[in-house]
Amino acid sequence: AQLLGATDIRRLAEEVGVRPTKTLGQNFVIDGNTIRRIVAAAKVGPDETVVEIGPGLGSLTLGLLDAAKSVVAVEIDTKLAERLPRTVTEYRPGREQDFNVILSDAMDVTELPDPQPTALVANLPYNVAVPVLLHFFEHFPSIQHGLVMVQDEVADRLAAGPGTRIYGVPSAKSAWYADVKKAGVIGMNVFWPAPKIHSGLVAFERHAKPLVGDVQREDVFAVIDAAFAQRRKTLRAALATWAGSAARAEEILVAAGVSPQARGETLSIEQFAAIARAGSGEGA
Ligand code: SAM
Repeated sequence: AQLLGATDIRRLAEEVGVRPTKTLGQNFVIDGNTIRRIVAAAKVGPDETVVEIGPGLGSLTLGLLDAAKSVVAVEIDTKLAERLPRTVTEYRPGREQDFNVILSDAMDVTELPDPQPTALVANLPYNVAVPVLLHFFEHFPSIQHGLVMVQDEVADRLAAGPGTRIYGVPSAKSAWYADVKKAGVIGMNVFWPAPKIHSGLVAFERHAKPLVGDVQREDVFAVIDAAFAQRRKTLRAALATWAGSAARAEEILVAAGVSPQARGETLSIEQFAAIARAGSGEGA
């Protein structure tokens, strides 16, 4: 089936009167092969409902409709959102009932119409990619797997493991929800307008069951935020404010089996969770 190329994208953009903006991260894919690659890497099955964030002019949407049962898309730009159903009619006649677009900031979406999505696939707006991804992990437990395209550097951060220089808040928080892996790099010339940086693909599989029980997600994230806010300090010092004092932080760390002299960037998500659990219940 035909995917959108440069000519289609220019025509559609002109027709809706969209001048792509940096603030909304509007870089549209103009290359069918890139779309096929993304959809294949996302491993979307024919029975799945996919949620797409930032469908834009529909480049990825059409590819997703070819692989999935249905697509629900969330777009912030009114002009783009309004054109999408007609683009589906034009390029995938007969598939209109399998497509839904919601005009909203993705960060405000906490419910989606049934059937609930089992996959998330998106070329995310780069400036809000990490918060949007975490928001969907949190609010839509039906999402089991997916693939997102983000700024390449952010892709590396999301997929990074403990003990690496780029391991940080996005790595640890996404690891709470899912197994996250880098799935490729995409060049600049497959977009219009072309961005100044490479893009990276990130594939994820949600953990079948929580990695660590008896602990609240909010408490774990509070420890992660505190540990990385002062990433060059030892955990004893970095967690002092969170715990109430450095001495109390040390007690909690010892109880959690973590060295008070360690730094946050060396801890696995299980260790962050162990610290949160050791510190909770006593008003840490
Ligand atoms: N999926 C299209 C593609 O691959 O060609 C467009 C991707 S473009 C990188 C990002 C899209 O996200 C744009 O259409 C933009 O308007 C939309 N967007 C930006 N911020 C958003 C937000 N907070 N919520 C929902 N959509 C957003």
